[in-house]
Amino acid sequence: MLGTLMYAPGQVKVEDVAEPSLLKPTDAIIKLAASCICGSDLWPYRGHGDFAQPMSMGHEYCGVVVAVGEAVCTVKPGQFVVGSFCLSDNTCPHCQYGFQSSCEQREFMSGAQAELARVPLADGTLVALEAHPPADLIPSLLAASDVLGTGWYAADAARVQPGSTVVVVGDGAVGLMGVLSARQMGATRIIAMSRHKQRQELALEFGATDIIAERGEDGIAAVKALTRHVGADAVLECVGTQQSMAQALACARPGSMIGYVGVPHGVEFDGQQLFFGQKGMLGGPAPVRRFLPDLLALIETRKINPGRVFDLELPLADAAAGYRAMDSREAIKVLLRT
Ligand SMILES: [Zn+2]
Repeated sequence: MLGTLMYAPGQVKVEDVAEPSLLKPTDAIIKLAASCICGSDLWPYRGHGDFAQPMSMGHEYCGVVVAVGEAVCTVKPGQFVVGSFCLSDNTCPHCQYGFQSSCEQREFMSGAQAELARVPLADGTLVALEAHPPADLIPSLLAASDVLGTGWYAADAARVQPGSTVVVVGDGAVGLMGVLSARQMGATRIIAMSRHKQRQELALEFGATDIIAERGEDGIAAVKALTRHVGADAVLECVGTQQSMAQALACARPGSMIGYVGVPHGVEFDGQQLFFGQKGMLGGPAPVRRFLPDLLALIETRKINPGRVFDLELPLADAAAGYRAMDSREAIKVLLRT
């Protein structure tokens, strides 16, 4: 079968690789309905951090179960499933508190930019649909596996309420999903920070009410001007750089929460600034499993259309071109047909 491997920064190849097999009784094997490239795949692609080479790429997935280990009891072959990029048992204390992304048995999914994938901890990770979905819902279901679940977590962690004023820092796929999520949670004012026309338009479609193209001090001043010089009730940080984090902290009013889901790279905090700023922060890898049943229901009833975030579709064999398109920001998010 075809699988996507990263050999070194900037070097992605789709090759004939061995089909995955059941390694543990808690595993499932799925046939992917489609796959995609994540913004976080760009960190190693751009040379940030070490990785074992070659690395099997892909952690977002949905598809049909083709085999299960003997201990798996909640999903069975033939069912259409969606799972989180974070693998969890869904039974340990952290899972029970809704933080499946801190599961005592946590693993991260890999190898999903392929035709078949092995999903460890299948019972605690996968959610089965009642029936196979229509083809046009596949992109949205795939988005639920990571970007939608992560944007949703950012809004949940930032405690977005009906009537909230929300700032979303970052116009990548996760930021755009944060806009959609804040809208679903009843925010009445959603300020998206974006300099790119196509992303601004998508943000407006997902529910943004205001767009701010400025960054740094100008961006902060623009947010203050829109919020009676008070700041936002909730801020979603969806980038992970020092500049984006500083922007998020400066736009949040005292007493507010910042949901931060961009994996921090080189971000440092000043203790006294945090102390006197009086702002709360909750972030980390999203516990997508907590939200999946509700998100899948919203998608199946067509109340949300997160699949709109995919603006380029390529055959799996052309994954390398997909990485290039996302790296150069020509594409927001690339769907790979398997
Ligand atoms: Zn657990």
